[in-house]
Parts: sequence; C-alpha cells; structure tokens
Amino acid sequence: MSFGVLLMLGLRYDYVVINVTIVDGTGSPRYNGDVGIKDGIIISVGNVKEREDSRNIINGTGYILTPGFIDVHTHLDIAPFFDPSFLPQLSQGITTVATGMCGLSPAPSNQDPSVQLYTYFKLGDIQRYQERPFANFSIYLDELDKINISVNMIPLVGHGAIRNMVLGNRNKKPSIEEMQIMKNITSETMKSGAFGMTTGLAYTPGAYSDVEELIELSKIVKEYGGIFMSHIRSESDDVIESVKEVISVAKGANIPSQIHHLKVCGMKNAGKGEEVLKLIEKAREDGLDITADQYPYLMSSTGLSSILPPWALEGGSKDVIARLENKTTRAKIRTDILNGLEGFDDLWMNVGNDPEKIVIISSPGHPEYSGKSLKELAGNEDAMEWGFDYLINSSMKYTRALYFVIVEQDFKSIVKKDYVMVGSDTQFVNLSSSDKVHPRSIASHSRFLRQFVREEKLLSLEEAIRKMTGFPAQRYGVETKGFIKPGFDADITLFKLENVDDTTKDTGMVLMSKGFDFVFVNGILVVNDSIIQNEKRPGKILRRHLFKLPTSIPNASIPTKQIMNTKYLIFAMIVIVIGFAYMIFGKKSRSNDNNQSEILDPII
Ligand SMILES: [Zn+2]
Ligand SMILES: [Zn+2]
Repeated sequence: MSFGVLLMLGLRYDYVVINVTIVDGTGSPRYNGDVGIKDGIIISVGNVKEREDSRNIINGTGYILTPGFIDVHTHLDIAPFFDPSFLPQLSQGITTVATGMCGLSPAPSNQDPSVQLYTYFKLGDIQRYQERPFANFSIYLDELDKINISVNMIPLVGHGAIRNMVLGNRNKKPSIEEMQIMKNITSETMKSGAFGMTTGLAYTPGAYSDVEELIELSKIVKEYGGIFMSHIRSESDDVIESVKEVISVAKGANIPSQIHHLKVCGMKNAGKGEEVLKLIEKAREDGLDITADQYPYLMSSTGLSSILPPWALEGGSKDVIARLENKTTRAKIRTDILNGLEGFDDLWMNVGNDPEKIVIISSPGHPEYSGKSLKELAGNEDAMEWGFDYLINSSMKYTRALYFVIVEQDFKSIVKKDYVMVGSDTQFVNLSSSDKVHPRSIASHSRFLRQFVREEKLLSLEEAIRKMTGFPAQRYGVETKGFIKPGFDADITLFKLENVDDTTKDTGMVLMSKGFDFVFVNGILVVNDSIIQNEKRPGKILRRHLFKLPTSIPNASIPTKQIMNTKYLIFAMIVIVIGFAYMIFGKKSRSNDNNQSEILDPII
C-alpha cells in the first residue's frame, strides 16, 4: 500500500459541508452546522470536529442542506435500461425513485407477447422493452443490479402485472385456484424485494378486480412489511366511492395504504376534495394507516383522441376517422361530449368546456403546435370541430395533450395535508427527442419548492422537505434514508431556495431544473457546483427485505443494525489502518473521540 493511499485512507472524512443551514427531513426547524461524510454514510452532524481532516470541504454558506429527495411515484421502472443517467431527477435534487406505480410494473411478465402489459410501457418511445420480458421480479431486480444507475430505486410490483400473469386481460373474477396462483406470485415477488403492491383500477386489467381480490393479495403484501398503493377507479365523478374502496382494502388487510396522485378532476366536481379529505382523516382517526401522494400540477396528460367518447374510439384509426368524417356520427360525438355519457371520463367537460385548457405538447408533423391550446390553434373556428379535423388530418397519429382538469381549490387543500407526500408520476423522458412531455416528468420537486414554499408560502420549507424525504423513507420502510443524521446514507442535496426554478413551467419543455448545486448519492458527489457528474452512477436497487419489518417474519429480514454495523466495521478497520499509518509516519497523534456517540445513534 502506497504512502499516498494510506494518507487518503487516513482522512477522517470524504467530505465536510461547513457552515450550512440543515433541514433534516423530520420537519423540525432548520439549524446551522456542518455535515461530515465518509464511505457513503453521514458520520457527523452539527459542530463537526477536525473538519479540516477531510478530503474535500464544501463551504455551505447561504445553502440549505437536506436529505436527497425521494420521489415516491415514478414510472421509471425500465428507464435504467435506456438511460441510467436520470438527469431530470438529479437536476432537481432527487436521489431515490420509487417505481411500479399505478398497477404497472415490467415484472412479473408473461412470456407470451400477446398477453404482456406492453401498451403502457410503449410510452416514451421505449418499444424496445418488448424484447426483454422479465419472468419474475427477482430476474428484473438482478438485471437492474447489472446497470450502474445514478439514483437509488425502490421497486414495487404492479397488481396489473400479477393479474396479467394468471388471467391475462380478461374481465373475470379469479377462481380459487387462480387466486392461489396470484397469491403465490405475490409472495414470491415480495420475498425477492418488492416494497409493496400498487393497483391501477382505472386501467385494465386492474379495473376487472374487486375489493375482495385486492384484500386477499394485500394480506400477503402485509406479511412482508409492504404497502398497498392505488390509482383509484375514478378521480372525477366517482372519486368519493373510489377513495372508500381504498379504505376498505386498508381495513380488510390491515395494511398501510396510499392513494396515488390524490386529486379531484372535473370542474363540476369542485369541492368534493373536502369530503375526500374528511373520509381519509376519519379512517386515520379510526386507526387505519392511510396516506397519499400528489404531483404539483393542475393538468393531466394523455392523447388528444381521448376527448372522444369510448364508442367512437372502437376499432382502428380508420374506423375512428370514418366516424369523424360522417356528418351524423360526428354530430353524435359532439353531443355526447357536451352532454356526457355513462362511463365516459369526459375530458372536454372536465376542463370546463374550455379549449384554452387543452394544450398540445407533441404533434407529429407539426412541432409548431407544441405548447399551444386548442383555442389558440383554432383561431376563429370552433375549437372542438378544429380538434376533430386535426385528428382526421393527422391520421390519428399519437398526439399528446395536457388537460387542465384538476380542481385548484381541492388541489391546494391537499397540498397542505401532512399525510400527503410529493410524487411526480414521472414517465421516461427521451432527452434526445424533440417531443415535449408533461412537466411533472422533469420538475415536480423543484416546482413544489418554488411555488408552494417560496412564492405562495403554503408550507414551511421544513414541512415541504419532510414530504420529500423523511416521510417517504418511513412510508416505504427504508430505514437508512430520508434524514440528515449520523448513520444514515449520504444522499444529500444543497440548494439556495431563491435560485430553485422549474424551468419547464407549464409548457412541457424538456429542460433541467435549476438551483440544486450539489447532490450526493450514497456519499458520491453527482452534482458538483451545478455540474452533473454523469459518469458517476452510485445508485442502488433497494430490497424491502433488507430493512427491518414492522411485523416479524421468521428469517425474512436482516435487521438494519446489522447492515449498519457492517458499514461501521469497515469504517473501524479503516480507522485502525490509518492509526497505524500515522504512527509509522510520525504524524501527530489524534484523540479518538471522533463522534462515536453520534455514529451509534439509534436509527429511527
Ligand atoms: Zn396513476
Ligand atoms: Zn402513476
């Protein structure tokens, strides 16, 4: 071992951030201090002793230091296979993403392509995924492990994937035998490391399941310490019934449960949010463990053809175009949109019959349409008729639009709730494509801080950071992340609140966020002085069973303490080697009161 290496090992810290304002992820008031990092772990917080004994010192004056953000809701399940750099995430301080949301995950996957859940994963030009079905969750995680990715991942399994394995896309109740197979798959998936199961009850095949099925499977998830999460059946007219369904599952399986992207859609449903929140709060008072996530935008995003009623969309593109070209059927489509139809999630009326609130973000052959509303594009023409003509002229090629369907008054009430965390609902963004995307896929967390903390002051900085860090970590049972405390993983972000900017705003431009000047993932500096260090990809694929379970399952868990102790053992060995090195090379002896008590602080 060379002298240089010994000296490097001899340093007490890899990094010390000095004189910084710490917001620790608990929601507690900020305080000033230093943070010392070594071997991927935060080893000292507060008045860091012998701070000069560090390989690097970052002057944190003027900066806020927080735990790296945990995005609790993303659809980045297979993003690592296409682009493991996660640039939009790093640019807004996100160091961990949860995947497998809304009932959809790439594993387990049926090997028969005709019954695979591919439609969803085709989003974002990632059809190539079709070539790599993962027979089970364990194979999927092992494949992820082979890739160096920039951020950590918390993988969950989609109920849709499990159901699809057994029942395909059929609208039927499972038989006893089929139910047993689904339970076995759930159990196997949880054993391999999933953090929970999600449902997409607004999509097939999730829409075909009933409460009983969800409760039975959730009981298995619960055994392994997992969480149940749900994209509920309706976020508009039937939102209240849909929230009640989640409460029934939470109660029936006695499982921690979370409502995905909580919102009320449709201007005529304004005010229903109050009842939804009351329902959740009553359930929580009754002892049920129910939380929610939310993305900070008033618009959803889907194809422009979704403005048409379901009957008009049946068959292929030619059928739809023929209906739009036929005077009689075109008039019927218009009437059904304006009057509504049973079972039709009517986007046109949900935006309040206001074509200014439907904005095209990607238009094949017409990039100049991007960012413009139907009202603007139609000019003096009737906007709905313009939209019909557009669909005909574009040959029904996929055109993505933003729909401002989310009721603002309910949205603001949800933001303020302490049981609601921030989740972006991000989809994979192909940065080399000129297509625009829903800005939630690029800038949710930076927008949340800019809008709700800095500008509107709806939340304190401490509370907003808790919703992005400590609260999500606790929710998923990731005991080593989410807080700035000794012993925790060194996932850290530094920013100046006045500089935080979600440069995408509402236009869906593919741009990075601004203001997150330093980001650490597992102790490695991946954003340094606002430059993303793209070659360093220190993220880890996490497994639920490597963390302590809330209920004891024999042989199913490795206590966190054990994991931490291994890290400390390595650290202790390094310290011993250093001690020797110093003695040999005649360096001044150092006292050994180096934050031991801090290092051994209990983990919450
Ligand atoms: Zn969803
Ligand atoms: Zn989602």
